[in-house]
Amino acid sequence: MKIKSYKNAVSIKLLKSIPEYDEHFLVIHLNNKRAKLDGYIAIHKKNGKLPSFGATRLWNYKSNKDALKDSLRLSKLMSYKSALAGLPYGGAKAVIIKPKGKFSREKLFEAYANELNKLNGMFVTGTDVGLTIKDLEYMKKFTKYLVGYNSKPEKGTALGVKNSLDSALEYLYKNKLCSDYSYSIQGVGKVGFELLKILIDAGVRNIYIADIDKKKVKEILDKYPFVKAVNTKEIHNQEVDIYCPCAMSGSLNHRTINDLKCKIIVGSANNQLLDISIGNELHKKGILYCPDYVVNSGGLISVIDEYVYEKIDGKRLRNNINKISLVLKKIFRESSKKDLPPFIVSNDIGLSIINKNSVE
Ligand code: NAD
Repeated sequence: MKIKSYKNAVSIKLLKSIPEYDEHFLVIHLNNKRAKLDGYIAIHKKNGKLPSFGATRLWNYKSNKDALKDSLRLSKLMSYKSALAGLPYGGAKAVIIKPKGKFSREKLFEAYANELNKLNGMFVTGTDVGLTIKDLEYMKKFTKYLVGYNSKPEKGTALGVKNSLDSALEYLYKNKLCSDYSYSIQGVGKVGFELLKILIDAGVRNIYIADIDKKKVKEILDKYPFVKAVNTKEIHNQEVDIYCPCAMSGSLNHRTINDLKCKIIVGSANNQLLDISIGNELHKKGILYCPDYVVNSGGLISVIDEYVYEKIDGKRLRNNINKISLVLKKIFRESSKKDLPPFIVSNDIGLSIINKNSVE
């Protein structure tokens, strides 16, 4: 299907006016007024007949332009994630603008599922920020282009973050006993909470959390009284060894960068760097920023396993997720050899793989 022939395709003229546009394969506007569905599906790259993968986000975007930009940036990141994880699929992403006021989740997701059907399997999706497994189960009634209800991707993502943490500790301190260090986690949703549990199980006790959802924070403090909760505006500037952004994009920006006191940044959030200059600045400051899309690829690896195989095999999945640490080690080695920030090394590797894989 060519971009121009799709009824709701966003025009190339509009896309070209947005800096986040990267010669995307197809971007469609989701627009069903009756169901209050408004948003975008962006397919960044396509590899032949294979579907492109990326989860669906439901968020309070201030404008359509903000939502479109986010879909372009996130879908591009998915292509890099897939490439670095050694997977042949192109990257994609859907963002839905959370309707203002009252709305029916059922109607919204039924309409969205029908949009997925129109793409005929070109795009396969799961849950990102704002969606739950319940939403996915409901959509299953209307479409088959879904993944993530068997493989528990948030657990895979959190495991990948832990593997990445181990690689970073080994690289920087030659000591990967994670209980020897202190942590702050921004966002204790699906992944942040799984990560918190992994760290606690590994003996970590010096740990700060923050979330805009006070109920989630309270539940955690009730269960783990040694965890310290701080204001969401102060989570990045705690005196800790490791900062784990597990909430929204752009947590590392011109405002927060000067307050950071950590030595390592490793978290699940997509697009943690507001822009490239922030990544370069972190490198100059001697803060080891582990590239987000490598660190958080455990979720994609999990859903691809679910897509390819009929039955989940925990051992196979863990083995594949454990390979993230090998990829990171390679990136750190190159980074130190060439004195380049790890995210630049990773982007270079990703781009060369994407150029080889993308066939329309
Ligand atoms: P989620 O919606 O379950 O959790 C996000 C949490 O962040 C929520 O609890 C929310 O209240 C909180 N939050 C939002 N803004 C905040 C702020 N300013 N300060 C503190 N907390 C804030 O989403 P999730 O699935 O856990 O995903 C978290 C991040 O990881 C997202 O960026 C997502 O794209 C990325 N990610 C998730 C997966 C996955 O498997 N779910 C995989 C790869 C990447």
